[in-house]
Amino acid sequence: MNLPNTAEIVIIGGGVMGASAAYHLAQRGLIKAQNIVLLEKENFFGQGATGRCAGGVRYQFSTEINVKLSLASLPMIERFKDELGQDVSYKQCGYLLVATNEKEVNVFKHNVSMQNGLGVPTQLLSGDEVRARLPLMKFDDALAGTFNQKDGTVDPNSVVAGYISAAQKMGVQVFSGVEVIGISLKGDHVEEVQTSIGAIKTRMILNAAGPWAGRIGDMAGVKLPIIPLRRQMFTTSPLKEVPDDFPFVIDFARSLYFHREGEGLLIGMSNQNEKPGFDQSVDEDFELVNLDAAIERMPLVEKAQRASHWAGLYEVTPDAHPIYGETGVNGFYVCAGFSGHGFMHGPISGKLMAEKILDGKFSSVDVSMLDLKRFKEGRLIQEYNVV
Ligand SMILES: Cc1cc2nc3c(=O)[nH]c(=O)nc-3n(C[C@H](O)[C@H](O)[C@H](O)COP(=O)(O)OP(=O)(O)OC[C@H]3O[C@@H](n4cnc5c(N)ncnc54)[C@H](O)[C@@H]3O)c2cc1C
Repeated sequence: MNLPNTAEIVIIGGGVMGASAAYHLAQRGLIKAQNIVLLEKENFFGQGATGRCAGGVRYQFSTEINVKLSLASLPMIERFKDELGQDVSYKQCGYLLVATNEKEVNVFKHNVSMQNGLGVPTQLLSGDEVRARLPLMKFDDALAGTFNQKDGTVDPNSVVAGYISAAQKMGVQVFSGVEVIGISLKGDHVEEVQTSIGAIKTRMILNAAGPWAGRIGDMAGVKLPIIPLRRQMFTTSPLKEVPDDFPFVIDFARSLYFHREGEGLLIGMSNQNEKPGFDQSVDEDFELVNLDAAIERMPLVEKAQRASHWAGLYEVTPDAHPIYGETGVNGFYVCAGFSGHGFMHGPISGKLMAEKILDGKFSSVDVSMLDLKRFKEGRLIQEYNVV
């Protein structure tokens, strides 16, 4: 493997953000594709947060900017096969969010009217309607729900593979098994990226290192408020009772979720006591807590075996929104901090970063308020719909 000595831009991270950015940068044709280099520390692309995620894609968020990102990103996923030739298994089973307390009901009502105003046809359901739609589940305490049919699931690995191979075909130089270990600046500008197998001189770097983005920021002397937080899930053996069109169900108060995975279920729950860190091993004690909660909601789960389990890292910012754009060091850009819902926004985020880097502004969606400076300037944007 021969690293080039120079590049016009080095993208750090081969998850959905880096892969999408590489593809969209090359597609614009303004930088010679051969001068775009993508570096991934693992031996395969998409083994970070992207490959460990639940694959959920949805329009249902509580802030306008997240809904707008979904309105731009999910159609790109729908067109993925036509544009990139890669099937990504987009299953529009709908997300059904369940509220079990009055506070959530009020938030859900506000969210539905905001989403409808932006053209997303989310429906508000009564508690009885939730129970009618989920006969296999025990939701006696459901007070309301929201449902949008176009939400669903997508295969994350296929999205990464599609972008990486399309970028490669255009000439982008992609390397796996190459870790970035340092960044040198000259004055206030990036000058060089040091890796485990050599150095690359460059005037531009895109930090797309997901949960590790803070470490890459440190290398360039930029403090990024992105914290790695472990999240885990498990899948079950086949459950023939679960219908093909079973929705992605979220029990909001418990941050407990279920969706169909193969012929069984994928079940996850957030541990609210999890401490920040890079540990990606499964916490078996918490898995039992998750299992008990799942059986309480869906007694059928008791009949199943665990088929697989894994943990991954959320990349959490103080307001649960990503950071896009410049960082104060010339030529050092960031696209990270998606706080547990970035996979679905990967397609549009890569395109937005190509716009910012090549044109100096975001055109497809105005994400200028999601800049790094907002944390210092107190312009945080709270998102409620993150589990
Ligand atoms: C358990 C779990 C469930 C989730 N569920 C969903 C969901 O249902 N829907 C959704 O939209 N999102 C979900 N997410 C969030 C989503 O996975 C992330 O927001 C998204 O994948 C982030 O993509 P990324 O490319 O920024 O990060 P990553 O996929 O982590 O990519 C960053 C890459 O950078 C590489 N890297 C790091 N440091 C270096 C270095 N020094 N040198 C070279 N390479 C480096 C890493 O190895 C990694 O591959 C979930 C996340 C987790 C953990």
